[in-house]
Amino acid sequence: MLPSYRVIVLPPQENLEGAKTLYMRASFMISFSIFVDMEKREQFMLEAIEMADNNVRNGGGPFAALIVRGDQIVGRGINRVTANNDPTAHGEVTAIRDACANLKTYDLSDCDIYTSCEPCPMCLGAIYWAHIRHIYYGNTQQDAAEINFDDSHIYRQIERPIGDRAIPETRLCSERAKGTFRLWSDKTDKILY
Ligand SMILES: [Zn+2]
Repeated sequence: MLPSYRVIVLPPQENLEGAKTLYMRASFMISFSIFVDMEKREQFMLEAIEMADNNVRNGGGPFAALIVRGDQIVGRGINRVTANNDPTAHGEVTAIRDACANLKTYDLSDCDIYTSCEPCPMCLGAIYWAHIRHIYYGNTQQDAAEINFDDSHIYRQIERPIGDRAIPETRLCSERAKGTFRLWSDKTDKILY
């Protein structure tokens, strides 16, 4: 949440002392609200980190995430890749799914994400698709690499031309596939996202 700013109406020239007091009060209120805001953000992050700790104790990976709208937690996610045999069950993706189910929307543009670690390329993609407003993270990609969760190779793959990537990619049935896109283009009642 952004700090609240107030418009100061300056009094006449002869009352400069009053103007100074008003200015001091306004500055104090702005710094105070930034402080309170930061404290709230840290509380959300600490909660995400606690969830990651508990997940490690319960057989999951050391990652968790929260989706927050205003002051409310609207989605929670923990890493359940090995527990659920699901390579997409990262904390951020599961938190986005939970928030979207709870809010009954595919658009989280008024929400922030608090993730215990910087998002991997898959989660970063999901965050952008969900139009999340701000990413707060605890650990960095380098911290994760130090405990053998290194996703830098995926970022490097994205930068390479398709023919140079580690997993071969081959185009098939392109004309038929385009038919689906024509079907979509011609549809008059579609929801763009
Ligand atoms: Zn991820």
